[in-house]
Amino acid sequence: MTTEHDNSNSRHELCRLLELDEATALVAELLHRELGPDTVGFALWDEDLEEYGDTVSWGASKAEMGALLSALVEDLEPEKEGIAPIDEDLLSAAIEKAVSVQLPGCAVLVLTGDFDADSEKIQKVLDLHPVRETLKNSWLYTELIRENRRLRSSYDELEDKTTDLEEQTRRMINDMTMRDSLRTKQVERERLVYWISHLVKSSVRIQEVLETAVEKIGTSLSLSRCHILRAGDNDSVDLYDYNDGQNPNINDLLLHGDGREFTRAALSLKSAQYFENYSVEGVQDQENNPLFDPGFMQKLGTKSGLVQPLIMREKVLGVLFLEDFSEMREWSIDDMALIGSLADNLAVAIENADLHREVEKQAVTDGLTGVSNRRSFNEALEREFERAKRYSQDLSLIVVDLDFLKKINDTYGHMAGDEAIKNIGRVLAQSSRSTDITARYGGEEFCVLLPNTDIDMAEQLGERLRRLIAETHVDGPGNLSASLGVAAYPLHADTADSLFLKADEALYRAKQDGRNCIRVASLEKKDVDGGQSSGDSKQSLVQEKS
Ligand code: GH3
Ligand code: MG
Repeated sequence: MTTEHDNSNSRHELCRLLELDEATALVAELLHRELGPDTVGFALWDEDLEEYGDTVSWGASKAEMGALLSALVEDLEPEKEGIAPIDEDLLSAAIEKAVSVQLPGCAVLVLTGDFDADSEKIQKVLDLHPVRETLKNSWLYTELIRENRRLRSSYDELEDKTTDLEEQTRRMINDMTMRDSLRTKQVERERLVYWISHLVKSSVRIQEVLETAVEKIGTSLSLSRCHILRAGDNDSVDLYDYNDGQNPNINDLLLHGDGREFTRAALSLKSAQYFENYSVEGVQDQENNPLFDPGFMQKLGTKSGLVQPLIMREKVLGVLFLEDFSEMREWSIDDMALIGSLADNLAVAIENADLHREVEKQAVTDGLTGVSNRRSFNEALEREFERAKRYSQDLSLIVVDLDFLKKINDTYGHMAGDEAIKNIGRVLAQSSRSTDITARYGGEEFCVLLPNTDIDMAEQLGERLRRLIAETHVDGPGNLSASLGVAAYPLHADTADSLFLKADEALYRAKQDGRNCIRVASLEKKDVDGGQSSGDSKQSLVQEKS
């Protein structure tokens, strides 16, 4: 039998905040102790659902108790209170006798086993102990814990969703920023192409165009170095460079030694070629090609580079060489399109400059021989005469006339005559100094103007020219011959025109003296207006021909 002290302990324990399992275990133990059933089952009333919810069993036949409880609660009237034996038809072999204790709004208990199932006794125990409160509280408590768990799980779900949303937002912002920066980049690209094409159109000075272009491209594309290599005459190369200031200048390297080979190879490229980490991707047959020499790339220090040829009408006019030292650049399709547009513009600029130079050259050059033409010679004569006068220097002039050209034409045809004229031009151009001016004055007559040269030196040079011409062979007529006249300022003349007439007069004498010889002008000063002109000069070749 329990004592008053036991009861107080048990009450105290039951009044604790207990979970359902704990509470039902305690109640089952209490009932077992007070009344003696070996199994106690509980079906707890769920107020929200208004039906019996959880079932819990303790004791020897707890496995069978679950099935009995489920069957029992189906027929119970929930609000009915009381203690009653359970109908036999609900019982089984394992549970032959059982009592139900209905506590409306709280639970229904089933007691079974070999015990005294007296209703009053059971009621007394129930009155004595806060069974109902304990079960209700623990049900509430358990529900709260469950609710708490549910809340926690939905909170976790929410937290996951929030994290997902945050991630999506971050990605969206990232996308937008990327799109924004792409748009900005695109605008910058278009601006650069516009700027370069404007530069090409607005300036005829090609040096200025290429110097400015290389700088603008270098800074706009954040390059370490940028070069334009322009193919010049006779295998020469003009170099324009931009350097971000943190890298060595390689102009000398590109123009000499293995750099020269690299430059030559770059100038023969027909399409863009890029370098990555000192080597070229996907290029076969790299051997012996300095363009693909990783050693040379390492020497340059180029981590990532691009060689873009500047091509116009299938002719490589130059090369754009872009270098990045800091990172392995991925030259995207957009990059390549941009660089291609820049290259097209630069190629137009170079071709225009080349054409312009060619037209200028043609304006002062004789088409047949490549030496200066008459107009250019007249300008040079005026210029050099003024200079000689101002600095009191000598100025000599040799006039050369091919002998018997008419006969050559008549006998061997005009082509042979042209060939003879061309050969004279070549001999004169090759044999004169860089300061001398060689020109075809007209027909088969040439002039060699010799600044800072006195009459003796001029005569010597003339004689050498005569000999060289006499050694020149043309198919058909054979060896050529020419007659030469030479005059000097201030010895023979005091104006440019009279210097010419004096030399021409000497030439006439050379013709008269049998040709293939040189004659020096007479010391008699020549008056251009005809005041003191000699009889010979009236028959001068120049006068005859003009
Ligand atoms: P000379 O020794 O006196 O100078 O005799 P020549 O025959 O050379 O001189 P002439 O003045 O009698 O004749 C010059 C000829 O040169 C006449 C002209 O048809 C010819 N000639 C002038 N210019 C050219 C040219 O560009 N090509 C050719 N093939 N013949 C030319
Ligand atoms: Mg002649």
